[in-house]
Amino acid sequence: MESIYKKIENFERITKDEGLKLIEYGDFLRLARLANRIRFKKHPDRTVTFILDTNINYTNICNVKCSFCAFYRNQDDKDAYTLTIEELKQKIKSAEEKGVETALIQGGLNPNIPYTYYIDMVKELSKSSVYVHAFSPPEIDLASRISGKSIKDVLIDLKSAGLKTIPGGGAEILSERVRKKISPRKISTDRWLDIMRQAHKVGIMTTATMMFGHIETYEDIIEHFERLRDLQDETHGFRAFIAWDFKKENSALGKIVTKDVTGVDYLKIVAMARIYLDNFDNIQASWASQGKDVGEIALHFGANDMGSMLVEEHVMEQAGFRAESTVEEIAALIKKAGFKPALRTTNYNIVRYL
Ligand code: SF4
Repeated sequence: MESIYKKIENFERITKDEGLKLIEYGDFLRLARLANRIRFKKHPDRTVTFILDTNINYTNICNVKCSFCAFYRNQDDKDAYTLTIEELKQKIKSAEEKGVETALIQGGLNPNIPYTYYIDMVKELSKSSVYVHAFSPPEIDLASRISGKSIKDVLIDLKSAGLKTIPGGGAEILSERVRKKISPRKISTDRWLDIMRQAHKVGIMTTATMMFGHIETYEDIIEHFERLRDLQDETHGFRAFIAWDFKKENSALGKIVTKDVTGVDYLKIVAMARIYLDNFDNIQASWASQGKDVGEIALHFGANDMGSMLVEEHVMEQAGFRAESTVEEIAALIKKAGFKPALRTTNYNIVRYL
């Protein structure tokens, strides 16, 4: 272990085998110190950013039916919905009035939505002052299949309509062994990565995510990190990495998963992400996923960003989890942890210090 620690102290890249050893046997507090060392090399001052955003789900109809998802509905379910562009405009207007910076817009994979809906949505919503951050790779894939256009052409159409960044949803664990079990109808690891690659190449920046704490092993997590790190070497198009843990309630997968993700598990993942993803600038502490206390401690495990202050969120809510906070509360929490809070844009530019 000492030789691996030494490598990290010298800011050298670790291999897959070393990563696996580290996540399995690494000393918890040493991981924190190493991750923090990298964090301060990349971000020497003590600023911790977060963003005020709204998470709008334009449809909950989805025919992919991932076993971990509590959000999706069938077309004929009573509570199935697809918002009209007019309804979306109203939501954006009310977000604008609340001073929201960004709208993270995602939906189920609803094959009945026409291609024009995606393009018109971006065109219309981009007219407001709220930044539109929309459509993860599975939605881009669906838009391509519906329209018969290539992924590249879909991305170019969306970019021309005003889309500048896309979220990293739908990654879950980028290991086919896991995907085949938890989301067999969703796009593959290679397809997810290729859509991100093409987005980066046409000038659309993205984030990368990971949902852990279900049936994956440490090998799967390291494989996930490795695939992201490789693509980042190639394109430099990922702005940030965000990990959140699986919420069991109301999903089929939740009935068979027996383990619970603890704060310690979460912090270890944050530290490992900072160490392994040496070509990522920003590592988020998702306080909305593990709670504020763990979010605060994650700032000492290599995270430099507190993620979102959500004004509207439905996916985790459907899984029985509702995290609420205010700008003041998040700012106080960052200060309590010994850092300088700042609101940021989606592009990680500082809006103002608090
Ligand atoms: S996670 Fe997304 S793709 Fe999977 S069932 Fe839920 S809404 Fe559909």
